[in-house]
Amino acid sequence: MTIDSFQLGHTAHNQDDVREHYDMPKTKTTKLDPCEYCDAFLDGKEKLVTANRHLGSSHFIFEHVPAQVCPRCGQKYFRAQVVKEIERLMLSQPSHSPTVSVPVIEFTLAA
Ligand SMILES: [Zn+2]
Repeated sequence: MTIDSFQLGHTAHNQDDVREHYDMPKTKTTKLDPCEYCDAFLDGKEKLVTANRHLGSSHFIFEHVPAQVCPRCGQKYFRAQVVKEIERLMLSQPSHSPTVSVPVIEFTLAA
C-alpha cells in the first residue's frame, strides 16, 4: 500500500453525521496523519476490524474490514476504497449473509 492509495473520503459526510453515528467510517489523507480525535501517531498499518454501519434503518456488521486503528483512542480509519465497497455491499447485501437480531433499547439515565 502506498500513500497514494489513501484518499480523502469523508467529504460526503458532514460533521453531524460523524458525531451521530458511532463507527462512521473515517478515512485518512495520508497514512502519516495523526488521529484527528486524540493526535496519537498512526503507523499506517491496517488491521482487520469489525465495522458497524447502517443504511436508513437497516444495520450491518462487516467483519474483517481493513482499517488503521488509533492505538490510543481506538478510532478506526478506513481507506476510501474500503468505504466504497462497504457502501456497495450494503446495497447489494449478499443473500448468504447471516443475520443477527439486535435489541433496540431506549436509553434513560436512572435518577
Ligand atoms: Zn485517537
